Amino acid sequence: MENIHNRRVIPEVEPGYLKQLLPDTAPEMSECFDDIMKDVERTIMPGITHWQHPHFHAYFPSGNSYPSILGDMLSDAIGCIGFSWASSPACTELEAITMDWLGKMMGLPNIFLHGSGEGGGVIQGSASECILVTLLAARHHALQERESMSPLIRNDSNLPKLVAYCSKLSHSCVEKAGMLGFVHLRQLDVDDNLSLRGNVLEAATQEDKKLGFIPFYVCATLGTTACCSFDNIAELGEVCVRENIWLHVDAAYAGNALICPEFQHLIKGAENLTSFSCNPNKWMLVNFDCSLLWVRDRLMLTSSMTVDPLYLQHKHEDQTIDLRHWGIPLSRRFRALKLWFVIRSYGVTGLQAYIRKHIKLAKLFETYVKNDARFEVSAPVNMGLVCFRLKGPNSLTKKLNRLINEAGQLHMVPALINKNYVIRFALCAENANENDIEFAWKAISAIASTLLARPSV
Ligand code: PLP
Repeated sequence: MENIHNRRVIPEVEPGYLKQLLPDTAPEMSECFDDIMKDVERTIMPGITHWQHPHFHAYFPSGNSYPSILGDMLSDAIGCIGFSWASSPACTELEAITMDWLGKMMGLPNIFLHGSGEGGGVIQGSASECILVTLLAARHHALQERESMSPLIRNDSNLPKLVAYCSKLSHSCVEKAGMLGFVHLRQLDVDDNLSLRGNVLEAATQEDKKLGFIPFYVCATLGTTACCSFDNIAELGEVCVRENIWLHVDAAYAGNALICPEFQHLIKGAENLTSFSCNPNKWMLVNFDCSLLWVRDRLMLTSSMTVDPLYLQHKHEDQTIDLRHWGIPLSRRFRALKLWFVIRSYGVTGLQAYIRKHIKLAKLFETYVKNDARFEVSAPVNMGLVCFRLKGPNSLTKKLNRLINEAGQLHMVPALINKNYVIRFALCAENANENDIEFAWKAISAIASTLLARPSV
């Protein structure tokens, strides 16, 4: 962390570079640790993209902090596997406690807390997993309901009729979940504010029902990957309650900002959600992996995931939760430790200050873009992400993005918004400051000048 700024943000290696530097077979005899570490610098570091570099502005942040690293190290050192309460009681209990802490910090309705009775939260490995498990649980639920309505029809005869929904701006992992779950997925249009609205969902579900399909799952997004836009949770919730559809909210990045009260209006209507997920490993200084999933009714999740062999049972099952039933893997790391370390080390106010600082710096970058007549801002700047482009054809911005990344000083990735090719400038580093923004803008501006002087480069 102290000297990371001396390195290039993105590596210059070509595919297969490492094979030329390392032996083809494993060493027969043990090697000394100093030699291994020397090889880390010689062979591994040249192939690292530095996500913690102050000039890394691609994707979304990859959470990292001193207490989080220590929490992960302690988890690895303890080395327990917390699949059931009995397999390591502290692992399950700290997970439930930290999930309730976070749920309260983010202003989630009480129904999502362990303390509430029916709901609760669990740490998963990724937002993709949260979406897949909720889609599978919703599928199970929808098929079971139909089976009980007409016991003569086999459960899976309804499978081809199931249809899930998301917006065209949802993350690709929703499409993947639909693919893995063998269900149709409709990607619906967003409005002028890049938001999925209730009337669009309503029209789609009515149309599908007329054709004999069964709408069963919606994945809405708070903070889309391309441009950090927000679906209208309140409107979607009303449709889903009426139509008995599982409504999941994927708030992988922007959900972290809910710890600041000024953003909690974004989950207005959250009492109608079935589940909600958010990744502190993106924007709350917690190292990957740490994706939080809350459900309003834990039985709706666990009833689709429970198998219970004798060797996993224990005598306290009636009074405890066994987190192996809340997701796909049996084995689970003690991930709550790093979350607990981070919340305690920064306190809620420290974490709020970090989020607010990123948003303030994004606004500063937006001002630079707006003050330069060659550029335009492509979407409202809501959080720590600015989408911008050169005025003119997409090919110009595409070239600009390529030239910026080739220069190696900065790293950014593009996205498509309403067919416009845009560059995403994401605030990522924990200690990002005004100088980093100025540095980035000067570099971008200079590259744009070269490009506009010779557009054929
Ligand atoms: N959802 C959103 C809105 C995202 O931005 C991302 C990744 O950036 C994902 C889901 C996928 O996250 P994960 O890598 O945790 O599966």
